[in-house]
Amino acid sequence: MANVHELKFLKEKIEDLKEQGVYRKLPVLESANQAEVILNGNKVINLSSNNYLGFANHPRLKKAAIDAVEKYGAGAGAVRTIIGNMSIHEELEALLSKFKREEAAFVYQSGFNCNAGTIQAVTEAGDIIISDELNHASIIDGSRLSKANRAIYKHSDMDSLEQVLKESRDKYRNILIITDGVFSMDGDIAKLPEIVELAEKYEAMTYVDDAHGSGVLGESGRGTVDHFGLHGRVDFTIGTLSKAIGVVGGYVAGSNTMYEWLSHRARPVLFSTSLPPAAVGAIMEALTMLMESTEYTDRLWDNAKYFKTKLGTLGFNTGHSETPITPVIIGDEAKTMEFSRKLLEKGVYVSGIVFPTVPKGTGRVRCMVTAAHTKEQLDKAVEVFEQVGKEMNIL
Ligand code: PMP
Repeated sequence: MANVHELKFLKEKIEDLKEQGVYRKLPVLESANQAEVILNGNKVINLSSNNYLGFANHPRLKKAAIDAVEKYGAGAGAVRTIIGNMSIHEELEALLSKFKREEAAFVYQSGFNCNAGTIQAVTEAGDIIISDELNHASIIDGSRLSKANRAIYKHSDMDSLEQVLKESRDKYRNILIITDGVFSMDGDIAKLPEIVELAEKYEAMTYVDDAHGSGVLGESGRGTVDHFGLHGRVDFTIGTLSKAIGVVGGYVAGSNTMYEWLSHRARPVLFSTSLPPAAVGAIMEALTMLMESTEYTDRLWDNAKYFKTKLGTLGFNTGHSETPITPVIIGDEAKTMEFSRKLLEKGVYVSGIVFPTVPKGTGRVRCMVTAAHTKEQLDKAVEVFEQVGKEMNIL
């Protein structure tokens, strides 16, 4: 018994992590999340956050959060179905449906919760979920919570998707195709027009997780569906409020019927307290700012192109990203982590991403350029990339 309480079985697993060289401490941020931060006591240029538009520490969002706290308090006090559904939550959903140009939007406490709750609620035994092999972990977990069957198609490979659709057509009641809108490790955009056509041909439903497309692609950052002009042809569009929007939360945009059903069956909403007023106030301000002007999305794209071009000119392999996500592919796992460490020593924080998050031999540092970076900060980062690249014979 003593062994059980000492968690010896976990201690052994932790030792394994150390032997594999993947044990790490959580980095500690001692400032707001912005272009330049204090990380583990040092001032560094931050190229690692999803704060695409620099909203996480924006004065307008902070003011809106404070105003919401003054009116509604620090916490919502209950789940939405009991007494945690404040008028501010409903206002947020109305604003989101306007932003996404859909009939309705249903809000969760995070993007992860949104996938965990929605997929399970809209599928059941006798259905099949067909998922891109590179979809996000929350889609994988959400699908596992469903009683539906599951199938995977090769990444953005339409022949592979059609093959699975053909095999599924007469076997299942409903078919749900799920894809990320923008794939977070390579920055490529899903082939949504082709996916929607196949879905229509095989009478399948479509579900797009646009965590990295919302606030980035389309008119005023309305997302991947807007980017391709596919409004009304995608059944469920997920967005997160934690990346470009800069706060926390998630939502699914779609029809009124979807909304009605989820408000009865989305388990993370039925059994977990709703978003705090501060978050809701700040999110609404962010959405208002996005719809008011393209200043932030324009600056994001301008900075991303500037940085990507400079790295490419130096000779770095920046993959085939179509979005501000800028991977710098190093290849070898140990070399990738060393590259990331050396960049940090010289004042640039870019996280290293290696197997199993990406395939073996494709280790990369993933640069997340934001609207908040100045050209001077980006130039400084490029200079450091060049120094370390030469030092390590990558250039
Ligand atoms: N979906 C995708 C594609 C993501 O990249 C993420 C965040 N890593 C999520 C969902 C989860 O979003 P959140 O951080 O809001 O829980």
